[in-house]
Amino acid sequence: MNTFFIEFRDPLFSIIIFFVIIFMITFFSYWWSRYKRKEDSKYLDNFLQQFQTLPSKEELRLLISGGELSEKSWLLLASSYFKSGDYEKSIDIYNELLKVGSSNVKETMFLLGKTYFKAGFLERSKQIFLEILKKNPRTPQALHYLLLLYEHMRDYKSALEVLEPLDELGEDIRKEKSYLKTLMLLSKSELSSQEKINYLLEIYQESHELSYLVFEYLFRIKPAVGWENFDNSKSELLSDIFWQLDPKDLNLDIISKNGYLRELYSARGDVKLADSSSIFEFDLLIKLERKANATLAFEYICESCKMVYPFVFHRCSSCHAIATSKVEWRLTRDYHKDFSEENNSFQ
Ligand SMILES: [Zn+2]
Repeated sequence: MNTFFIEFRDPLFSIIIFFVIIFMITFFSYWWSRYKRKEDSKYLDNFLQQFQTLPSKEELRLLISGGELSEKSWLLLASSYFKSGDYEKSIDIYNELLKVGSSNVKETMFLLGKTYFKAGFLERSKQIFLEILKKNPRTPQALHYLLLLYEHMRDYKSALEVLEPLDELGEDIRKEKSYLKTLMLLSKSELSSQEKINYLLEIYQESHELSYLVFEYLFRIKPAVGWENFDNSKSELLSDIFWQLDPKDLNLDIISKNGYLRELYSARGDVKLADSSSIFEFDLLIKLERKANATLAFEYICESCKMVYPFVFHRCSSCHAIATSKVEWRLTRDYHKDFSEENNSFQ
């Protein structure tokens, strides 16, 4: 029986104790490192969670009134919310800053009005800009936004009135004036199409601007009047209008005398007045002779800010410039042709 027990003074006993201690230290340090890793990861998750969930309106109110961050930091935060499209949070910050007592009231109000405008709260935005202009009538930025607001609200008369103070401030308002007058004219339901065309041509003869807006209406309502007043230098600008024009509305006399239109309508397959074109897409379509289901698709680029839109625009929604749209085209599959061929095969 004694053989199973080790004497206290036996060297083997010391060795066993030594290994037990080593085992305990190793086990404890392993457990401690695991526990620490888990705690660190939990802390990091909680820390990151703060940035994933946006502060509530009440939290923002407490944070701003607490004064832990400077006004500049809050303005930067509001601006980053604005850029990421979270207008609601941006509006909450500006409103709280104004309540707490911003040191830059006019600037903060301007940013608030701009954010309301972008978020689509037009009436609130209007009130803010009117409030700014009541105290500071010579603020061109606020006047510009007020003009945009009236334009969005289709209140063209008020928009034209805003041009007066802008003119007094030395701003060039000629293009804005023609544009607003044209929009006002087109919106008048009491005028006949012929009256609108007559007024439209009058405005166009005066300024020779807004060609796309004018000719888009003329070719849509009365193509013959469009051709009558057509200016050869605008051929490229109106490419998409010409491409979509009904074959029965083509004026072959004018087309045959215009090199660009000869190539465009040869590419569309209406005429055979060009064998090739310096424009790659036209050249390819002319040589394909409608044997492939291909057509042109258009997109519109703002020449001022380079923003690209899938639809035509008269005022760029990004930089607010007027008549800066430039049409660009690319080859695409002709789904319309596909559809008509499918229908024919069922008959
Ligand atoms: Zn633009």
